Amino acid sequence: MSERPLILVSNDDGVNAPGLQALHRALSKWADVVVVAPEREHSGTSHAITLERPLRHRELGPGVHAVDGTPADCVYLALNLGGFLPRPPALVLSGINHGLNLGMDVVYSGTVAAAREAAMRRVPAVAVSADARADMGHVAGAVQPLLERVLKARHPDGQVPLLNVNVPQPEVRGARATRLGRRDYIDMVEQREDPRGRSYYWIGGPVDHHERAQGTDTAAFDAGFISVTSLALDTSFADHLGVAAYAAGPEEEEEA
Ligand code: MN
Repeated sequence: MSERPLILVSNDDGVNAPGLQALHRALSKWADVVVVAPEREHSGTSHAITLERPLRHRELGPGVHAVDGTPADCVYLALNLGGFLPRPPALVLSGINHGLNLGMDVVYSGTVAAAREAAMRRVPAVAVSADARADMGHVAGAVQPLLERVLKARHPDGQVPLLNVNVPQPEVRGARATRLGRRDYIDMVEQREDPRGRSYYWIGGPVDHHERAQGTDTAAFDAGFISVTSLALDTSFADHLGVAAYAAGPEEEEEA
């Protein structure tokens, strides 16, 4: 039996993305790697799963599979269908995404969703992102010690880590444990007209501002540190329990 840990790799940029391939190459030096990733790009699709049509897959090479579905589909398939993985994986990695996932980007991110899908099945998972123009080989190298530490980390029973990692380039000054900061975008809707006189729209604008408060992923990243944010699966918000209780209304008397 192999001493090397088994790592499942997926992403949202598609199986041929340079970020995924760089990660695969770097991991192969010390781990057994299986890639199950979307056939095409699915950035910004968050945690969508495909329920209305069948999924198909192609084996592109030994241990490299393309699925015509979403990032979450890929991890769901790989973890639940015997045949993709020779044994249960020690870790699921998603990335390296071509684009940062800081602050509330994690809500839209297909990269984070692939990792979350694994964590929901109690497999430790890490999403890794970098600027789209970064040297993915450098980024992959920079996160290897961190990934090896994740495998060694102890965690409370039944609570596996779900980490969101962003790697600055070209200089990395170190790594910091962070919480999500604020990454504000300029909200934009561009309205145009097609040749038949119908309106169409492009949504999404550029980043305007990063929160600078200490302890945030945005501040750590801007200062040249790898940000390592632990994400929760349970997103219920204790601070607003009172609002929920007020909305639920007065408690009804139980009938005797
Ligand atoms: Mn992407």
